[in-house]
Amino acid sequence: MNLILLGPPGAGKGTQAKLISSNFNVPHISTGDIFRANISQNTELGIRAKQYMDKGLLVPDEVTIDIVKDRLTKDDCKNGFLLDGFPRTVKQAEALDEFLNDNGSVIDASILIDVPKENIFERMTGRRVCSKCGASYHIKFNPPKVEGKCDLCGSEVVQRKDDSEETVKERLDVYDKQTQPLVEYYKSKKVLKPVDGAQDINKVFEDIKESLGEKNVK
Ligand SMILES: [Zn+2]
Repeated sequence: MNLILLGPPGAGKGTQAKLISSNFNVPHISTGDIFRANISQNTELGIRAKQYMDKGLLVPDEVTIDIVKDRLTKDDCKNGFLLDGFPRTVKQAEALDEFLNDNGSVIDASILIDVPKENIFERMTGRRVCSKCGASYHIKFNPPKVEGKCDLCGSEVVQRKDDSEETVKERLDVYDKQTQPLVEYYKSKKVLKPVDGAQDINKVFEDIKESLGEKNVK
C-alpha cells in the first residue's frame, strides 16, 4: 500500500507512523531521515542538497523529488511505503504521481491527521524536557511530580525553543499554507482520508485502519 501521512506538527504523526508502518508492513519514510542519510553518506544527491542547505536556502523541489524517488526504488518499498514530510507542495505531489504512474502504481491513501489548532498549541507549548537526561513531560498531560524537576534525575525541566509560543504559531501558519493545497489535491484524486487526531492514540489508529480497510482486504 502506498500511503502518505499529512498532519500538523504536534499531532502525533510520529506515533501513528510507527503503528501504520508495522501494521501494514511498509517502511516509514521520513524526508528528514532520508536527507540526513544521503548527506552523511555523501551520496551525489546528498551533496546536491547540502549545497543549498549550507547557504541556508531551501532545497529545490527537483532535488527533494530525486531523493524521494531514489528511496522509493529500494527493495523494502516493494509492498508500498508510508511517506512522511513529502510531498510538501502540489508540484512534488504531481511528480510523485507521475513517478508511481510510470511504475504502474498509484497513491492508495493520503491520511490526514486532523487536529484543531488550539489543541496543537496546547500540546506543543506545554512540552517540557529534562535538561540533563532528556526525559519528556507535559505541564498538563504528563507533569513531573515536583514542578520543574525531572522525576528521573531531579534536574531542571525546560521548554525547548521549538516549543515556544512564537515558534509553534509560526510552524502552524507555515503548515496551513503548505498543506491546504495538498489536501485539495488529494481530495480531488479521491484518496484523502481525514482522521480525527484529537482522540487518544489508539482510537486514532483504529480510525486510520478503518479508513484503509477496503484497501487492506485486497
Ligand atoms: Zn532527567
